[in-house]
Amino acid sequence: LKTGTDIHHAASLLRHGEVVAIPTETVYGLAANAYDPDAVLKIFKVKERPFFDPLIVHTWSIEQVDALVTDFPPLARKLAEALWPGPLTLVLKKSGRIPDLVTSGSETVAVRIPSHPLTLELLKLLDFPLAAPSANPFGYISPTTAQHVADQLGEKIPYILDGGTSNVGVESTIVSFEGNVPCILRHGGVSGETIEKLTGVPPISYKPEEKSQLVPGQLLSHYAPRHPLILGDIEEGLKLYMGRRIGILSFSGSFAGVPSEDQYIMSANGDIEEAAKNLFSLLRKLDGTDVEIILAGNVPDTGLGRAINDRLFRASQKKNK
Ligand code: AMP
Ligand code: MG
Repeated sequence: LKTGTDIHHAASLLRHGEVVAIPTETVYGLAANAYDPDAVLKIFKVKERPFFDPLIVHTWSIEQVDALVTDFPPLARKLAEALWPGPLTLVLKKSGRIPDLVTSGSETVAVRIPSHPLTLELLKLLDFPLAAPSANPFGYISPTTAQHVADQLGEKIPYILDGGTSNVGVESTIVSFEGNVPCILRHGGVSGETIEKLTGVPPISYKPEEKSQLVPGQLLSHYAPRHPLILGDIEEGLKLYMGRRIGILSFSGSFAGVPSEDQYIMSANGDIEEAAKNLFSLLRKLDGTDVEIILAGNVPDTGLGRAINDRLFRASQKKNK
C-alpha cells in the first residue's frame, strides 16, 4: 500500500479499473470509474457493502453532470450553482451512462462536485466520473484522515490519496425533489436552513427513525463503534452505569467523576462546525480505548447539528436493525 499526494499515480490506477481512496471535504471516499461496472464492483467488495446501497457519483463540473442525468430541474440547478463544489449531493433522473450497479438499480443517480483541491485536480485528469462511497468498512465510522483509511482498508486497496483532514467532517447533505419541493434524504454538510434560503422553499426533512426504511442505504444502524454507544442525557447515563468504565462523547461540557482522558469533547467553545469536524475522529479514538460503554450527548438540533445528531443516533442503534 502507498499513501501520498501523487494524482497522476491515482489517475493511472483508476484508468486501469482499480479503486483509490480520495480526500474530500466531507469524509474520505473509496473511488472507481463510475462507467466501469467491474471497477465499481471492487468498491462493494472492499467495503463489504450490500448491493442495495447505491453510490454517489463525483465530477468536477456542472456540464459533466448534464451528461449523467436526463433532467436537471431549475431548483436543483440553483442549489448546484450556489453550493458546488461543496457538501451537497443531488438525486436526479439518471441517463444511460450510469451502470445499474452504481444506483442499485434505481432510475435516479446521486451526484456531487466535492470541494477538495487534490480530488478536483484528479477528476480533471480523468475522462470519466468517480463513483465513491465513504472509505470505511460498511456500517463502521466514516474516515476523515488518510490514516483512518489505512487502518481499516489499507491491505485491500493500492493507493490512498492523502489530502489531510477533512474540513467538514460529516457526509454530504443528500437532496431529492418531489415536484418543486426539496427533500432532504440525509442531513449533512449543508444545513436545511441554507437549502431553504437558496430555494425559497422549506425542505421536507425526516428524522432517521422515520425515513430510514424508505431511502436506499440509509440504515438505522450505521457509523457504529464496537463499544455500545448510548445517546441521551449524559448525567443520567453516568448514574445508570455507575461502576462501569465509561467514555464520554460530549458536545462542549465535561463531567465530574469520569477521568479526563475518557472524556472527548467535540467543541470546547460550543461551535457546531468544529464539532462536526471532530465527530468521527473522536468516536474512532474512543472506540480504540477499552471503555465498556460510550455515553454521548446530542448537540443543538440546528444547522450542521442535525447531521451530527443523525450520525449519533445511528451510531447508537444495534447492528442488523
Ligand atoms: P456514502 O457515500 O457511503 O455516504 O453513501 C452514499 C449514500 O447516498 C447511500 O447510502 C444512499 O443513501 C445515498 N444515495 C446514493 N444514490 C442514491 C439514489 N439514487 N437515491 C437516493 N439515495 C441515494
Ligand atoms: Mg458511508
